[in-house]
Amino acid sequence: MSELIVVLGAGFGGLELCTVLSEALGEDAHVTLIDKSETFVFGFSKLDVMFGKTPPEAVRMSYRDVVKPGVRVLHETITAIDPESRLVSTDASTHAADVLVIALGADYDMDATPGLAEAGNEFYSIAGAEELAGIIPSFARGHAVIGICGAPFKCPPAPSECALLLDDELTVRGVRDACEISIVMPLDRPVPPSPETSAALEREFAARNITLLSGRRVAALDQALSVAVLDDGSELGYDLFLGVPKHRAPDVVISSGMTEDGYIPVDPATLSTRFPGVYAIGDVATAGVPKAGVFAEGAARVVAQTIVAQLRGGESPERHLGRGTCYIEFGQGRIGSVDIDFLSGPRKTGTFNAPSTAQMVEKERFGSSRRARWFSA
Ligand SMILES: Cc1cc2nc3c(=O)[nH]c(=O)nc-3n(C[C@H](O)[C@H](O)[C@H](O)COP(=O)(O)OP(=O)(O)OC[C@H]3O[C@@H](n4cnc5c(N)ncnc54)[C@H](O)[C@@H]3O)c2cc1C
Repeated sequence: MSELIVVLGAGFGGLELCTVLSEALGEDAHVTLIDKSETFVFGFSKLDVMFGKTPPEAVRMSYRDVVKPGVRVLHETITAIDPESRLVSTDASTHAADVLVIALGADYDMDATPGLAEAGNEFYSIAGAEELAGIIPSFARGHAVIGICGAPFKCPPAPSECALLLDDELTVRGVRDACEISIVMPLDRPVPPSPETSAALEREFAARNITLLSGRRVAALDQALSVAVLDDGSELGYDLFLGVPKHRAPDVVISSGMTEDGYIPVDPATLSTRFPGVYAIGDVATAGVPKAGVFAEGAARVVAQTIVAQLRGGESPERHLGRGTCYIEFGQGRIGSVDIDFLSGPRKTGTFNAPSTAQMVEKERFGSSRRARWFSA
């Protein structure tokens, strides 16, 4: 029996879900994948763009190249979601689903931090990273503040990576001694589930004269004074502000009435929402895992296996284990990683793999394997 499967959002989660469904069901998959963008970009590519290592065109992957049996890709903007009737409206059409998967990621709430849009820069969008690629090369003196405006935020190690790559960049240009680098982070430590990873990053910061202000977030920017106001009322002057905006679910998700505390609550084991036939995966959901592509992908596989089992009457899938490896740029050509396991045992664990040049190859393979898997017929 065929069911209409509608997947909202073609990011890490949506792409992996459609790929598994197509592999398992072929032309019988009857999947419609909808995204407002024409291209996909890996989150980590934003750091490469920001530091001028690659032009933005080189990291964009066109959804035209997602050609898979049983999967139809539509370039439409979702304007309303009715989770009760599983009916989705877009700027072009309406789509009725038997199974609806919401994989719309997290958006940035620039207005939540007064002054951020006018006075600072952010590096979490491709447009922000592109703009910074034109600004960073002329920063040669003063205080660079990497400021996080709220938690949770995507890829918790990314701001630390940004600081270490900035240190590299300023050192290569011979201006490091004229610059200060600080990170303002609402977490207690850089990678909370992994004390070893946090300690390694903190050692690196100390060795490279990077100041970490943990347990603090940036609450506002004062453009006239070039000052960041932190949530405890203290102030930090800056000459270059590299921001991580506060995150929240996209407006269309919030208007659907599915969210609690900004995101869609799901059963962490199955990713099902309280609405029958509706799942939420990746950054848009509260599933007990960090907001990162590897976890969106793992969640996608569980939901795909559930759908296939329902259609084919096969084995029930393994529950979502919240496992994945996050690569971390330590600068100076070295990459470390942390193997995260959030849901399989009684405790969250994060096993650290020390930085090395060898892991550079592994990270490249992480990207190239997904590019090949998702973007070729
Ligand atoms: C600087 C940085 C570095 C990162 N590094 C890593 C890393 O090394 N490893 C890692 O695993 N993760 C990393 N991440 C995090 C990772 O990019 C995200 O966690 C991941 O993309 C989440 O996947 P998702 O499928 O939930 O959402 P997304 O990949 O964000 O996809 C959501 C999709 O929904 C679409 N959409 C949204 N609203 C609408 C609408 N109304 N109509 C139609 N379409 C819509 C968007 O266009 C988008 O394509 C990084 C992120 C950043 C910013």
